[in-house]
Amino acid sequence: WVAASFTKQQFPLARLSSDSAAPRTPHFDVIVIGGGHAGTEAATAAARCGSRTLLLTHRVDTIGQMSCNPSFGGIGKGHLMREVDALDGLCSRICDQSGVHYKVLNRRKGPAVWGLRAQIDRKLYKQNMQKEILNTPLLTVQEGAVEDLILTEPEPEHTGKCRVSGVVLVDGSTVYAESVILTTGTFLRGMIVIGLETHPAGRLGDQPSIGLAQTLEKLGFVVGRLKTGTPPRIAKESINFSILNKHIPDNPSVPFSFTNETVWIKPEDQLPCYLTHTNPRVDEIVLKNLHLNSHVKETTRGPRYCPSIESKVLRFPNRLHQVWLEPEGMDSDLIYPQGLSMTLPAELQEKMITCIRGLEKAKVIQPGYGVQYDYLDPRQITPSLETHLVQRLFFAGQINGTTGYEEAAAQGVIAGINASLRVSRKPPFVVSRTEGYIGVLIDDLTTLGTSEPYRMFTSRVEFRLSLRPDNADSRLTLRGYKDAGCVSQQRYERACWMKSSLEEGISVLKSIEFLSSKWKKLIPEASISTSRSLPVRALDVLKYEEVDMDSLAKAVPEPLKKYTKCRELAERLKIEATYESVLFHQLQEIKGVQQDEALQLPKDLDYLTIRDVSLSHEVREKLHFSRPQTIGAASRIPGVTPAAIINLLRFVKTTQ
Ligand code: FAD
Repeated sequence: WVAASFTKQQFPLARLSSDSAAPRTPHFDVIVIGGGHAGTEAATAAARCGSRTLLLTHRVDTIGQMSCNPSFGGIGKGHLMREVDALDGLCSRICDQSGVHYKVLNRRKGPAVWGLRAQIDRKLYKQNMQKEILNTPLLTVQEGAVEDLILTEPEPEHTGKCRVSGVVLVDGSTVYAESVILTTGTFLRGMIVIGLETHPAGRLGDQPSIGLAQTLEKLGFVVGRLKTGTPPRIAKESINFSILNKHIPDNPSVPFSFTNETVWIKPEDQLPCYLTHTNPRVDEIVLKNLHLNSHVKETTRGPRYCPSIESKVLRFPNRLHQVWLEPEGMDSDLIYPQGLSMTLPAELQEKMITCIRGLEKAKVIQPGYGVQYDYLDPRQITPSLETHLVQRLFFAGQINGTTGYEEAAAQGVIAGINASLRVSRKPPFVVSRTEGYIGVLIDDLTTLGTSEPYRMFTSRVEFRLSLRPDNADSRLTLRGYKDAGCVSQQRYERACWMKSSLEEGISVLKSIEFLSSKWKKLIPEASISTSRSLPVRALDVLKYEEVDMDSLAKAVPEPLKKYTKCRELAERLKIEATYESVLFHQLQEIKGVQQDEALQLPKDLDYLTIRDVSLSHEVREKLHFSRPQTIGAASRIPGVTPAAIINLLRFVKTTQ
């Protein structure tokens, strides 16, 4: 590869080239930097959209590596996985081929907030992911460390002070592309910490990314620092499971992907998890050794919802904390003690662990450690994940301040689609808060920013009852096919069939009416009250907990029997019936939000100088930094007052 770049004073590290520059080979449509959870989704999404894509990553053998927990999904995270799958993304399908313990969380609550989750075999996940990545048409995978960006003059019609046109690798070689996506995770100036020892690393065994971090800072990006950590890994044979609480997987297993009816392994062949707890002795060891633990003393923010044992002891003293002992894989000799992320000196880690019930003889095979890294204030990116500062440069994953594989994957798929759409000059693909958890995640990041690792939760979502895991395909697959081109024909056709079958089924269920006394005779096990003299619709009978499509079809075989042939359809009809009345009201609220989202703010508006709108200096600065794209997004920026929104609204209406 030929190095071809000129340097200019204002970007000492970032190379600037001109169109007359030396040979521009190789040249791709999209380059993705980083083969983690964001990068793999971004690269394959861009390729599915028809872009010639290059995935550049440090090591091909770490593609698909799960840096921390051997699990995917959970409350809120399972929703993200369903949405990634609805856009034909990878992680859900790969998890259905690699899990060792599938369990749906939150079952006691309604299906809108069920959390699909599975323990995953690390080795299998990596193998399956690498197989998929290396066999994706239009995708080239290349090992290499990217040190720098190649920049050119900006396109006149867009904001941004320059445009990215390629990357420079550590050996000085260059590769050009129309769009570049950065998905470098915890690697930007990554620093590993155990006890008082620190050393530069993106994660254990991997070099950090220094050059890129410097380039981004020099370009004017606002950079922050975050931290996270991982627990020690314990030898399985050293644990006394016989005295611990055993948890078995669900039977049947619920797959993550819409394309699968079942997962690769039978429930009876899956592995159990075990539960134990910390005790006052653990607190004592943490508190006595705080002076030996520099990660804990650091003021950098760590993950609030997945904290280290040290921060739990400091924040909630004298409590017993749960420790889940999770399998790392079918043939792995290691156990992952979830809840025991720690950065104590290695010799003290085993001492602390052996105080815990069931772990009295535990052997630590790999100590826990912390990692501190740079992230970029996500208010510097648009909802399509393109940066405001550099045209055609996209950020996705932990680099944007999030934590978790699923959050990274969700951003990856959106960045991949948009980097590709940018090449073909098509409008961006944006998921709104009313359409998906992905929309909430990206809107929160781009309008509110984050000062601690951001994790997805159902509580962040206003329209929880509409944005359910079961209907992610109806919400996103059709759009993904038509507006982005990232969905296969087969998946699209299946989603269309499901959508029309649901609509037809609901209308049939609405049309069947009997008096409640007759329903009671037909379905005696249902707790239907017979006091009502008005006819009751089959759809209302389906709302009773003890009624499902099978019992309803037994009572009224014609025309209902046909809706029980497909299990997924029958289950989804039951869910639709459960939420029918509440959804009607929610739909009105969604329409209101969508009206605000339809009011676009001009992209080139200079909030600092514009005179036609009355805005305080503080509001102007906030709008200038976040550059919201719609009135709806502007209204969610903290500190942007309702009065400012009304003034902006008036301004938009007069200019449209
Ligand atoms: P990563 O998966 O980190 O992938 C980054 C990729 O970029 C790597 O393949 C790397 O080789 C590549 N790369 C970086 N720089 C360059 C470069 N210059 N050139 C080429 N390639 C490059 N999440 C939780 O939810 N809970 C936790 O408790 C938790 N603990 C964690 C503990 C540790 C120690 C670590 C490292 C991560 C932890 N995470 C945790 C986070 C989780 O692993 C990430 O959120 C997720 O992996 C982010 O995905 P990503 O694609 O953004 O980055």
